[in-house]
Amino acid sequence: MPALGGLTLARVLHVHGIPSTVYEAESSPMARARGGMLDIHDYYGQLAVEAAGLMDEFHGLILEGRQQLRLVDRDGTVLLDKADDGTGGRPEVQRGELRQILLDSLPAGTVRWGHKVSGTRTFGDGRHEVTFADGTTVVTSLLVGADGAWYVEVRDGDPDRHRADGGDPAAVPSRLTLSG
Ligand SMILES: Cc1cc2nc3c(=O)[nH]c(=O)nc-3n(C[C@H](O)[C@H](O)[C@H](O)COP(=O)(O)OP(=O)(O)OC[C@H]3O[C@@H](n4cnc5c(N)ncnc54)[C@H](O)[C@@H]3O)c2cc1C
Repeated sequence: MPALGGLTLARVLHVHGIPSTVYEAESSPMARARGGMLDIHDYYGQLAVEAAGLMDEFHGLILEGRQQLRLVDRDGTVLLDKADDGTGGRPEVQRGELRQILLDSLPAGTVRWGHKVSGTRTFGDGRHEVTFADGTTVVTSLLVGADGAWYVEVRDGDPDRHRADGGDPAAVPSRLTLSG
């Protein structure tokens, strides 16, 4: 899942000397365009960026003036016009660029591309097994789901509660596996 949540966690762990491995279904960093803008709030996303030690790189991504907000109706009548106050409270950045600074900040080999997770199970002793689409498996002592909308929750000793949304565990997507 080399995307924002999982990569940020991997980076914060790395800053603290804790190795981790990130398993991603996509075959390479170029497999899919990561478009779209993100507001990174000072009380939320920026705290994570700071914990990752990447504030300087983050500031280099900020698009000046993009905190301006204007709402118009279908006739073009301006309903709300709020200028960028310049405080940097919720600057906008490109999702793909933010992902790139996170990727660049991790040791080589941290991200394992082309590893689509097809399922997980817990052994009940603090270890978890992750199965990939090609049938290979890894066992880890700590497993974190960072697959966005398909977020998965894994709890020790409770193999039937793999999905926060109650879906089919066999369809479960990506994980971040910590090797430490
Ligand atoms: C439309 C939209 C707008 C948003 N705007 C903002 C914003 O302005 N500011 C903000 O802070 N947050 C915003 N968010 C939230 C933010 O995008 C998420 O919090 C963040 O991306 C979650 O990170 P993640 O790593 O868990 O998941 P994602 O970024 O969704 O990445 C999931 C990753 O899992 C991989 N994956 C999927 N299935 C598998 C599988 N089976 N095996 C292995 N890998 C798999 C995918 O390829 C992908 O790389 C927005 C979200 C959306 C949808």
